[in-house]
Amino acid sequence: MEPIRMKNPIAELDGDEMTRIVWKQIKEELLLPFVELDTEYYDLGLENRERTRDQVTIDASEAIKRLGVGVKCATITPNAQRMEEYGLSKLWKSPNATIRSMLDGTVFRKPIIAPGISPLVSSWRKPITIARHAFGDIYKAAEYKAEEPGTAELVYKDRKGNILSASKIADLDSGDVIMGQFNTEDSIRSFAASCFNYALSAGEDLWFSAKDTISKIYDHRFRDIFEELYETRYKADFERLGINYRYMLIDSAAAGIMRSEGGFIWACKNYDGDVMSDLISAAFGSIAMMSSVLVSPDGKYEFEAAHGTITDLYYRYKNGETVSVNPTAMIFAWTGALAKRGELDDTPELTAFAKAIEKACMDTIGDGTVTGDLAPLCGRKAADTLTFLREVRKHIEIQAGGR
Ligand code: NAP
Ligand code: MG
Repeated sequence: MEPIRMKNPIAELDGDEMTRIVWKQIKEELLLPFVELDTEYYDLGLENRERTRDQVTIDASEAIKRLGVGVKCATITPNAQRMEEYGLSKLWKSPNATIRSMLDGTVFRKPIIAPGISPLVSSWRKPITIARHAFGDIYKAAEYKAEEPGTAELVYKDRKGNILSASKIADLDSGDVIMGQFNTEDSIRSFAASCFNYALSAGEDLWFSAKDTISKIYDHRFRDIFEELYETRYKADFERLGINYRYMLIDSAAAGIMRSEGGFIWACKNYDGDVMSDLISAAFGSIAMMSSVLVSPDGKYEFEAAHGTITDLYYRYKNGETVSVNPTAMIFAWTGALAKRGELDDTPELTAFAKAIEKACMDTIGDGTVTGDLAPLCGRKAADTLTFLREVRKHIEIQAGGR
């Protein structure tokens, strides 16, 4: 088989621990034998973030913006214990947070449904993609616990200090709590645009849900912005593709999800998306079967697996144990990036190869070669990571031979 050529590179962001090991194995077993892989490599491993004072994360984000497509391995978000473990000079920010804010992007998480692994909800036949607005609300709120009985007010001043609005929230006793949260029009607009663009590129319906019956100004603002953007910018394209946009109250959306067969995108506010994405991923089987893509409002894509660096298995691996990591979501990060590169560069053979790898993964699982996380879900024995990858490679070769 002739190696496939790429017209333009992908930004490649390497990472940490177990996923860094598996990252290399995926490239060696599934990519390099078949593609003349062209990447701009950025080492986001924690040691190199320390060495470059995190400049490498900024350079990598710029590369994704410039090249349009990136693929990222999981990375450690340092805490106090990691600071000591790696001798860090500073608690570097989460690379994902840096990249997300530089791209002004929205994260879409989509479960991978494999043969023989049934979702816990029996009506679900197709993946449910969750889009989380990862900005503001309770994640950037001001909070206060009352020390004395008193009155809580919501006060808004203009830049000169004139009070434009003051309203009483409640009379409080000591021990009571209050919170002030916000969001920005720009951020909501970017979120909505990313959701509409993603729905068009996936060819799937889009739901957006909030609680505007209760929150008549705050949540209603989200609803209005989505509706305005839909009417003015996206409706014609949605109709042309035969897909729908609908607003739903969050509670009726939650109920609707349970009775649906899947196959759509559910856009959620920050907290709802935080909770629902974990619920959806658990109900679809395994965090290792959850793919994730960051999409900017101007159409730049960064693909990754939703899971982290799998620290527990890494320490066992370092002790010489053979471990069973499920590489599927990481493989789908690569195939997502290669397929997008192929689409943008008009190299259909690259996109077709990406789809062939995905099919090979599904065939491998369907044939009963599964990793430890899936084994109990389908009553099979667990294969180790390399055995799984080599089986996927065989299935790619079978497809190539059949062509
Ligand atoms: P994690 O790495 O996702 O692992 C949590 C558990 O899920 C593992 O202990 C393992 O469970 C299971 N698991 C996850 N991926 C798996 C796979 N591919 N195959 C098999 N099992 C898998 O989350 P964490 O332990 O909370 O975080 C570890 C590090 O990752 C932290 O430093 C965190 O900052 C970082 N992190 C990075 C990202 C990112 O870069 N996107 C996301 C999340 C976390 P068992 O082995 O116990 O069954
Ligand atoms: Mg969460």
